[in-house]
Amino acid sequence: MSTETIFSKIIRKEIPSDMLYQDDLVTAFRDINPQAPVHVLVVPNKLIPTMNDADADDEALLGRMMTVAKKIAADEGIAETGYRLLLNCGPDGHQEVMHIHLHLLGGRDLGRMVGRPG
Ligand code: 5GP
Repeated sequence: MSTETIFSKIIRKEIPSDMLYQDDLVTAFRDINPQAPVHVLVVPNKLIPTMNDADADDEALLGRMMTVAKKIAADEGIAETGYRLLLNCGPDGHQEVMHIHLHLLGGRDLGRMVGRPG
């Protein structure tokens, strides 16, 4: 059985967040520890702990995460300057919250794609 994280409480609005968007499949809110001027998390309402747990039945949901991220990038004014969509998985990916989430990062030059450990 999957264990809920703080993201489930944010989705159900049991704890506060700076929520930008919510529909039947996904919720988007600002990251509490932003790594860029724009740092938004797009999260499925359904608990999927890691990308390894996603399957074909989740394809609509995973696609919605992408199109909602695109919409928020436009709303935040970074569609033209550019942004990065990032999904961490497992120890090497440094996933901290076991409820998949797409990071939308932008508003500055984000540098090259992959950093060094540490
Ligand atoms: P991960 O490393 O799992 O890909 O990223 C988890 C992200 O969730 C981190 O960027 C972290 O700042 C963010 N985060 C963790 N707890 C909370 C919270 O309670 N509220 C919000 N808005 N973001 C959180």
